[in-house]
Amino acid sequence: MSAGFEELAVERGPRSGALMAVVVHSTRLGPALGGARIWHYPDNDATIADAMRLAESMTHKAAAAGLNLGGGKGVIATPQEARPEGEARRALLLDFGDLVDSLEGRYVTAEDVGSGAEDMEVIAERTAHVVGRSSVPGGSGDPSPVTALGVRAAMRACAAVRYGSTSLAGRRVVVIGLGHVGTALAALLRDDGAEVAVTDIDPGRRPDAEALGARWLEPVSALRAECEILAPCALGGLIDEFSVDDLRCHIVCGAANNVLADRHVAALLAERDVLYAPDFIANAGGLMSVYGELRGLGHEGMVRLAEGIEQTMYTILSRAGSAGVTPLEAALEHSRARLEREARISA
Ligand code: NAD
Repeated sequence: MSAGFEELAVERGPRSGALMAVVVHSTRLGPALGGARIWHYPDNDATIADAMRLAESMTHKAAAAGLNLGGGKGVIATPQEARPEGEARRALLLDFGDLVDSLEGRYVTAEDVGSGAEDMEVIAERTAHVVGRSSVPGGSGDPSPVTALGVRAAMRACAAVRYGSTSLAGRRVVVIGLGHVGTALAALLRDDGAEVAVTDIDPGRRPDAEALGARWLEPVSALRAECEILAPCALGGLIDEFSVDDLRCHIVCGAANNVLADRHVAALLAERDVLYAPDFIANAGGLMSVYGELRGLGHEGMVRLAEGIEQTMYTILSRAGSAGVTPLEAALEHSRARLEREARISA
């Protein structure tokens, strides 16, 4: 096992024949919670590498959010790019449920890219260590509405730092990706009085924009649209060393994971005076939603945690400002400090 990781369980599912892995990066703060990604990978090494990278980032996300959770991740490699359906999907999920169960609660699974609440029900046939369910009392189901609440809370902190007021009324916000989170976020921002514009590579989403009362932008122009806040809610890697020059916004704050192509882009944003809300702080509402299910907090408890992202983000941005480091560095330092504190207490 690589240094810094606790456990790696890999197998070829006996029913499905598919490669699947669970990586436990850390259980220092609690059971390692991280979604099950169902994805097609070029080879076995790429599958394991993705699981390890994601597991480590879950440790930081949970620690920075103040949750008593460790970091882990599950991946299920599909034989082809097409989404497996029917019996083939069921076989994958039952195999994965057995693999999760073999870790005896050190890892708890949930939804991620390629998996949804209905898949968690199938996994639950083989293990109790699964959350993000919709059919059980206290089940959290789709985490996206809570994620959207958390992103809005993060935006309020950014507005406070940049403009001296948390109000989003009258702010021009561009939401890139009108999916589960983007749609919920756009509705919250509209209700806050923001001027919302949206885009999606799927033109079939255009009627959703109209229903929201949001202006539709073509995907090519959205990144360079003049606005106060750009909210990436699609896939990662949107902002790289080239696209950073296209930005005409003051703040980048959205739900997308790994929105920066790599960490050094955080410095390029700072040089251009763009305030960057670190993704793993802004989008922690999704993790809070499943944490709420695990701890029986109920919907109100999940919402309270997500609203708390405003204070966490404000603390991180203020530290970045006073220490002269990027918000990303300040956020990583924030999570490391908590992990070290807990290690000292338990030593
Ligand atoms: P989703 O699949 O429901 O929506 C993504 C949308 O983005 C889709 O409508 C897709 O067509 C669109 N899209 C893809 N590429 C695009 C592009 N280049 N330009 C414009 N639109 C594009 O996903 P989601 O659940 O809403 O999640 C959005 C992002 O937030 C992902 O990066 C996800 O990892 C992250 N995230 C989600 C949650 C959650 O609770 N769902 C929690 C934390 C982080």
